[in-house]
Amino acid sequence: MQKHRATALHYDFRLEAGGVLVSWAVPKGPSLSPADKRLAMAVEDHPLDYARFEGVIPEGEYGGGTVMVWDIGTYELEDDERFDQALRRGRIVFTLHGKKLRGGWTLVRTSGRKWLLIKRRDRWASTVDIARAKPRSVQSRRLLAGIARDNGGDIAKAATGDPA
Ligand code: MN
Repeated sequence: MQKHRATALHYDFRLEAGGVLVSWAVPKGPSLSPADKRLAMAVEDHPLDYARFEGVIPEGEYGGGTVMVWDIGTYELEDDERFDQALRRGRIVFTLHGKKLRGGWTLVRTSGRKWLLIKRRDRWASTVDIARAKPRSVQSRRLLAGIARDNGGDIAKAATGDPA
């Protein structure tokens, strides 16, 4: 999952499947609470090596702004289902083995490109605001402002995505 301060702050959730990163933009980021249903807009697939991209996309280009590797890890589908079938069906049930996000999650399509990302009830569920509690890159420990600074980006704009 990447944290991306573009036109608006959002998190890009990506699952490797079929040789690409199937992707969703999650405006509010993930919640560890099963009571929260976070909107996740399906977006275009990305190449696999994009999962570790951290830096600045030039202003004026698509997605212009600062990108952080907010979490990374592996996942497994539940019940031996196939990813493409689950994607088509609009319901993907999986377990995350990230550094920040763990345990059971569900992505369910509501209409069109709109999906919901929901934590399942297990020992990794929590009321902790994970986005606020763990704002740093798992790859570099930097905040968005630090990534912008190191890559010639807009530091003030990036900083608006960091906790106050
Ligand atoms: Mn994005």
